[in-house]
Amino acid sequence: MRIAVGGIHTECSTYSPVLMAVEDFFVLRDAELLGAEYFDFLDAAGIEHLPLLHARAVPGGPVSRMAYESFKAEFLEKLQAALPIDGLYLAMHGAINVEGMDDAEGDWISAARTVVGPDCPIAASYDLHGNVSQRIIDQLDIFAAYRTAPHIDTRETMVRAWSMLVETLRTGNRPGVAWAKVPVLLPGECTSTEDEPARSIYLSLPGFDAQPGILDANLMIGYVWADEPRATACAVVTGIDRQAASKAAEEIALQYWNARENFGFGPVTGPLDAMLDLAAAATTSPVILADSADNPTGGGVGDRADVLRALITRDWQGALLAGITDRPAVEACFTAGEGASLALRIGGSLDPASVPADVTATVLRLDDPGSAADRQAVIRVGGIKIILAARRRPYHNIGDFRRLGFDPKTVRLLVVKSGYLSPDLAPIANPNLMALTDGVVNQDIANLASDRRARPVFPLDRDFDYAPAAVLSARWRS
Ligand SMILES: [Zn+2]
Repeated sequence: MRIAVGGIHTECSTYSPVLMAVEDFFVLRDAELLGAEYFDFLDAAGIEHLPLLHARAVPGGPVSRMAYESFKAEFLEKLQAALPIDGLYLAMHGAINVEGMDDAEGDWISAARTVVGPDCPIAASYDLHGNVSQRIIDQLDIFAAYRTAPHIDTRETMVRAWSMLVETLRTGNRPGVAWAKVPVLLPGECTSTEDEPARSIYLSLPGFDAQPGILDANLMIGYVWADEPRATACAVVTGIDRQAASKAAEEIALQYWNARENFGFGPVTGPLDAMLDLAAAATTSPVILADSADNPTGGGVGDRADVLRALITRDWQGALLAGITDRPAVEACFTAGEGASLALRIGGSLDPASVPADVTATVLRLDDPGSAADRQAVIRVGGIKIILAARRRPYHNIGDFRRLGFDPKTVRLLVVKSGYLSPDLAPIANPNLMALTDGVVNQDIANLASDRRARPVFPLDRDFDYAPAAVLSARWRS
């Protein structure tokens, strides 16, 4: 039996002016793919895995049409060359937006279906923040999505999708997919599975899996910062019984709809100034403040200096700000050298709407892993230390700080560009505060510009009725 493996994986805010290019993706192809830790579960007796191409990027703005088309062409060429195959496994995110194109995953998966033909089962794993469409569902036989946010079940989800595919090849039982849209679009920060009501809803999913005729039950929160027609929450159920799968999808959809008014932010959340007042009064540490609208792992640009400017205004003593993406500022620090003092403009290097801070900084540390895009500089402005990064990236892992000589536990105030905190940072936050800042992934959902979304949708609209209606994939209908 031969299973081909590939996919494309990122999340794109249509409010970001910063297009993603080929260089923004980490690409695994051929033997590298099978050798990567990310895919090292691909091992089953009697199955040969055929690596294609997997392209993955930190979330950001829309993907340039050229970048997308070049990845797709290479993926399809490798898929064609891998034929004949018995199954295809796609490791997707689900929230790609490509310049001038709606439903890029629908385009990718449909193109793959054309190559493999109607008889080859296709399985896809998704992030629960992906946006699904009928076009996507119609081409799939197997679907599984994360059940945790923060995502701590990435690998388990991939294994669920792939295992169902292996089982399909071994038994010859062909599964199918049913889905039910829910007209609700909430940000990940309100729907963390650490907090109610998302916690209970997600904990109910294994109970659906155990029902006769059901293989894998999912709730997709969807991606709220994409103004596109397909943006929606939905329940997606893989099963072997059409009726059971449809009924489960409708029940999960209704659970989410009924809970819609009960979602809220997990940490103490408010305007930036109010959060800084709380941080100033805190007697415990580290206070970890999330700059929520500029979170690169949600699609934020990562170049904003709003929190830095506010801290400078307050003459704040004892803060670490991690980090601000600003390649010109990093280059200037490298030119000046460690120990140098220099005038710097920080912020606004990518997004014209981002207001910079003009400062006099001391260069504390330079980090050069070898490529100019990976360089970092640590600077000090008064009582504030700032990590500058040449490329868009998060600082969500303890290892990111250790590399630069920091222990986040010993900082009075740590500012990170994040929504809900990462599994590394959440346990040490004492307390965690979230600032409702400006940026391309801001939390003011009801007031997002919305020209292309299907309406009505909660919370952009509030006064409308809804009853779930499951739809089968085209493959299951025929
Ligand atoms: Zn996600």
